[in-house]
Amino acid sequence: MSARVIDGRAVAARVRAQVALEVQAFREQTGRTPGLATVLVGEDHASAVYVAGKQRACAEVGMTPFDRRLPAGASFAQVAEELEALDGDQSVSGILLQLPVPDHLDGPALTAMIGAEKDVDGLTPVNAGLLALGRAGLRPCTPAGVLELLDEAGVELEGAEAVVVGRSNLFGKPMAQMLLAQNATVTVCHSRTRDLRAVCARAEVLIAAVGRPRLIEADFVKPGAVVIDVGMNRLTPEQAGNKSGLVGDVDYAAVAEVASAITPVPGGVGPMTIAMLLRNTLQAARSQASPDSLPRQADQDAA
Ligand code: NAP
Repeated sequence: MSARVIDGRAVAARVRAQVALEVQAFREQTGRTPGLATVLVGEDHASAVYVAGKQRACAEVGMTPFDRRLPAGASFAQVAEELEALDGDQSVSGILLQLPVPDHLDGPALTAMIGAEKDVDGLTPVNAGLLALGRAGLRPCTPAGVLELLDEAGVELEGAEAVVVGRSNLFGKPMAQMLLAQNATVTVCHSRTRDLRAVCARAEVLIAAVGRPRLIEADFVKPGAVVIDVGMNRLTPEQAGNKSGLVGDVDYAAVAEVASAITPVPGGVGPMTIAMLLRNTLQAARSQASPDSLPRQADQDAA
């Protein structure tokens, strides 16, 4: 069998084009332009590249980008002050603190300072709680992008056996919750899982977010399964066998012989993350234009 390739670039381009149309309509209806603020602490090259991509994508769909940078030695109080200022700025619909922050800073504590209604990464305790409770809220971008890919690929999740490898707060846990909300039967694996191979081989939908190059081999995969590779591992182009030097957590060539559909790396899940960030920013702008659809900062402070 040779798997159908799920083209994340094409799906992401469709989402971005749709967001651009909706931004224009939103502006006409409300007179407001959604704004996305990115906060980058330090000079990490990869983070700077990600932030630049988000800024560019934001401008491309007609939103206003706000680019806030703090030096690597910025204190917790300085970053918190920046986040608070953005939270109080009505022209900013969404705030994204680029992770990881330098070691001396507590990334989760800083993230938690972002008001839930502007938390376009969906990573604050309030939005994580809303997801766990099955209530509306802003969802983390990468798992939301995976759901979008599965939907576009026509994958039936209701009653499906889904296995997520990885249990991070950023991806694995919210992914599992989202699949559960779609009525899949969900198993979450991690580094202490006994017999990962056997558990993965049960999956009709197998999602790998581990950070281990080509961990998922052909015999981890049930024939006909849909395989989503979230992993982004940087090797030399020679080691990776491609120009970008990026490989996923799935042994693509071998698994494509067994799976019915598969996402490539690059060009699969990666492009979806920014597309969903844009969609979240528009959702945030809409919520702020018609309040009460999400808990506001004042409610959090009172809780
Ligand atoms: P993470 O926080 O490092 O979590 C990795 C998870 O994998 C952990 O739950 C860990 O288990 C588990 N794990 C590690 N080794 C394992 C093994 N041998 N067998 C089974 N499970 C194992 O990473 P993350 O932030 O979730 O990211 C995972 C990967 O996805 C990375 O390659 C990252 O670059 C990529 N990613 C891509 C995007 C995108 O936009 N495409 C977005 C986010 C992440 P324990 O919990 O037991 O330690």
